[in-house]
Amino acid sequence: MADLYIGGTWTSAREKGTREIRCPADGSLVAVVDEAGPQDTADAIAAARRAFDDGPWPRTPPNERGDLLLRVADLLARDKDVLARAESLDTGKRLVESEYDIDDIENCFRYFGRLVASESGRVVETGTEGVDSRVVYEPVGVCALITPWNYPLLQTAWKVAPALAAGNTFILKPSELTPHTAIHLMRLLEEAGVPAGVANLVLGAGPEAGAPLGDHPDVDLVSFTGGLQTGRRLMAAAAGTVKKVALELGGKNPNIVFADADFETAVDMALTAVFLHSGQVCSAGARLLVEDSLHDRFVDEVVRRARLIRLGGPFDEQAQTGPLISAAHREKVEAYVAKGLEEGAVLRCGGERPADPPHPDGFYYPPTVLDECSGRMSVVQEESFGPVLTVERFTDEAEAVRLANDTIYGLAGGIFTSDEAKAQRVASALRIGTIWINDYHPYVPQAEWGGYKQSGFGRELGPAGLAEYRETKHIWRTTNPSPQGWFS
Ligand code: NAD
Repeated sequence: MADLYIGGTWTSAREKGTREIRCPADGSLVAVVDEAGPQDTADAIAAARRAFDDGPWPRTPPNERGDLLLRVADLLARDKDVLARAESLDTGKRLVESEYDIDDIENCFRYFGRLVASESGRVVETGTEGVDSRVVYEPVGVCALITPWNYPLLQTAWKVAPALAAGNTFILKPSELTPHTAIHLMRLLEEAGVPAGVANLVLGAGPEAGAPLGDHPDVDLVSFTGGLQTGRRLMAAAAGTVKKVALELGGKNPNIVFADADFETAVDMALTAVFLHSGQVCSAGARLLVEDSLHDRFVDEVVRRARLIRLGGPFDEQAQTGPLISAAHREKVEAYVAKGLEEGAVLRCGGERPADPPHPDGFYYPPTVLDECSGRMSVVQEESFGPVLTVERFTDEAEAVRLANDTIYGLAGGIFTSDEAKAQRVASALRIGTIWINDYHPYVPQAEWGGYKQSGFGRELGPAGLAEYRETKHIWRTTNPSPQGWFS
């Protein structure tokens, strides 16, 4: 075993730690991988520092870096089947969903490869004669990239592609639960010609392998996607050395359905919004806000269809969604449902483990609808990150906006209405980073992604997603130097 990639070499963990990776769909052993400790992470930081300070990558012209990203995109397309399979084994998600993810990952590398080649700073018009003033972009330095388990390679690509494009070196710390596509990506970067030390991979638990990245003086930037508590910890750790920090945290996303919405579309999308990937999506539309006059008919139909959703493993072609990631995560989801019921929610479907699960050792939990919820319930306010839909009623536009904004989060949300002006008004009033009108979940690499409020700060994707990984430098040159005489 040699699953850590440090300074261009595949290596084992120093302390010889290992971890079993098991498929959440059936508990089968996928592989045993190395488990890094703090010393391995320190080695990776040192390698990335050397590669940044002395290596060729930060000094490689942007168009050449862009070309390399395009080569990586070609390799991702070549290995799509292997990558999709690995992603599904680690996460338990349906193979077809992993295949979509790999296509998106390829597109992400292509987008940043082209963007960086087209952007080289700007000339500033100073209004002063004899002055050449330019703004140039430079890499930030050594980047710590820490990612979650729900979209392992996708979240990684959103960081690795712009970090590389901008000329940085990095240490990637993927979720300890889902390491395989990160390992494969490192092989592809190596094959594409990324110089030694630019890309480094440490696998392992957050407190041991990840935490040393947060406060190390040789790390210049931490980009983190994951839960709120971990984000807070990393932000505090980074303060000691004033690192740049970007946080993509959780969401408790409202999906607002007005009575004038297209009924079929809104029902269909309400299901996709929350039950895709069994609700393990940061932008999941887990809070359904329905106009009072539509409530009964709408929720009846959502419940009817939710009951029909078929659970199954990644390679079961009849399955429509998969298991939760782990036993501990399923217990967390169950606790939120129990708390919601205690607080007065009405269970309309789901709410307990399936009597006849697709596999006895899989972490299955059915689509669950909790009706008659209110904003003070913890299942409405906190992220269960499972297939749990809470339903609240509203009577007018102002109340819909008030309820939707009544959360510490602000990541994403949906609005369903046939009134275009109303949709635009509500979209403006929501304190949310991504809003879908009469749709849910689509995204493109050209458009920024990120949260308001405690969903985090910084942006991934789009031009701002590249800017996260660049310093901006102003260079002022007087073309005809002469004394100014200020002190003479
Ligand atoms: P998590 O916070 O438990 O872990 C995320 C990563 O941080 C993992 O790699 C983990 O090992 C690492 N980590 C844990 N403790 C650490 C520490 N002390 N120091 C450094 N690293 C540490 O989150 P998770 O359960 O893996 O992911 C689910 C969360 O991710 C949800 O809250 C979800 O909303 C969020 N998420 C957000 C987005 C987004 O775009 N905003 C996307 C995907 C997931």
